[in-house]
Amino acid sequence: MLEQDEFMTLSKMDFDVSEEQKLILDQVDRACSQIRPIEEKCYLERRRNDQVGPVFAKAHMLGLPISRRFGDGQVADMVTYALAIERIGREGTGVRTFFSVHIALCQLTVQQWGNEEQKQRILTPATKGERLLAFGLTEPGAGSDPASLTSFFEEKEGRYVLSGQKTWISNGSIADSALVFAYPKGKRDGMCAFVVDRDSAGYSAKPIENKLGLPTADTATIYMDKVEVPKENLLGPRGKGLSVAYYGLMSGRLSVAAGCVGVIQDCLDEAVRYAGVRQQHGRKIGRHQLIQRHIGIISTNLEASKWLLLKAAHVKQKYEERPTDMGLREEADLAITKAKYFAANASFDAANRAVQVFGANGYSYENRPARHLADTRVTTIYEGTNEILEQKIAVGALGKDFEAYS
Ligand SMILES: Cc1cc2nc3c(=O)[nH]c(=O)nc-3n(C[C@H](O)[C@H](O)[C@H](O)COP(=O)(O)OP(=O)(O)OC[C@H]3O[C@@H](n4cnc5c(N)ncnc54)[C@H](O)[C@@H]3O)c2cc1C
Repeated sequence: MLEQDEFMTLSKMDFDVSEEQKLILDQVDRACSQIRPIEEKCYLERRRNDQVGPVFAKAHMLGLPISRRFGDGQVADMVTYALAIERIGREGTGVRTFFSVHIALCQLTVQQWGNEEQKQRILTPATKGERLLAFGLTEPGAGSDPASLTSFFEEKEGRYVLSGQKTWISNGSIADSALVFAYPKGKRDGMCAFVVDRDSAGYSAKPIENKLGLPTADTATIYMDKVEVPKENLLGPRGKGLSVAYYGLMSGRLSVAAGCVGVIQDCLDEAVRYAGVRQQHGRKIGRHQLIQRHIGIISTNLEASKWLLLKAAHVKQKYEERPTDMGLREEADLAITKAKYFAANASFDAANRAVQVFGANGYSYENRPARHLADTRVTTIYEGTNEILEQKIAVGALGKDFEAYS
């Protein structure tokens, strides 16, 4: 039987697309059509696609869920935002990762935790693509356990001085500013979040080469050697850095889930198209039952992922409207975790099956399934590995007494 709360959530979910949402989604669709040939060319040449920002900025899509008070903010609700990112996800995980970082991990976090001056200063240019953002939490020795990071800051003449290294940072070498997390020197608590500008002395970034996938997206290591950060760049209250980071990750995971739904959709479209034209043993391969099995599984996982995504976006929207409601926060966190976990795994499975449907042609980056297979592999690693999310989901069922770590 449904719990009362669960029933209330389900009964209020309405996913009819309004005229306003349709305008946004049409705009996103047009920008996606524009980026597709550029992305394909960059992929085959294995170089960064530097047109993602400009194309989507021109379409006014770089501040989708941000308030209209800031630059190009479109004040899209979380469901519209998720549908937009899903559409972008079809263009590839490299394209979508740019959005997850620039908008979800960074802009939404600044909107939630920043003061008015910071929001004006950071969000106004960021929503127009004039200031690109990165999110620097991971370090060489701190991944799944961000609380173990070793970057640190000291205070000197009214400024913070930051030292440390952040690695595997998406947009890391192209971002004008990065949200970074560090402890006070010599301490293992009181983490703080800062906005650090690329042109600060002692700050440098180096792209990571030879990645398994995402050749069109930037991933970098950031080095901070006594970087001076003005007081006004502390983001959120002192000592609340981990809460700032976790808020960012919640938004980021929703965005990853949405992108993965897009990947599954594209794999389904490609598999159906190919199975409808390729002939073997005197018939279209779509008539062979074992090919139908691949398509049936992708199609079912698409629908399951999409429902999990829509529910997660719906609950996140409720939380955005009542940010002090900790019950809602937990509900949103769990729903988003499930959606990200399921959609990420389903997207890799869908890409793998689409490659199989294509046979040898699926083994070439000339075709979309191969690119999805290489790229979506990261989605079970970043923004919470499968193993970490499985534990979060289990604790959601078992209760907090079973939490291994906070
Ligand atoms: C392409 C790419 C882009 C990225 N972008 C960003 C970014 O923009 N910003 C950012 O901050 N980070 C980013 N990351 C880093 C990413 O978030 C981390 O890789 C992730 O958190 C995992 O950390 P790790 O790689 O250090 O793995 P580890 O934490 O070392 O984990 C290794 C393995 O051990 C498992 N494991 C760890 N702890 C436990 C446990 N308690 N129980 C069970 N299993 C466990 C993990 O699940 C994993 O399978 C990116 C990574 C990649 C690959």
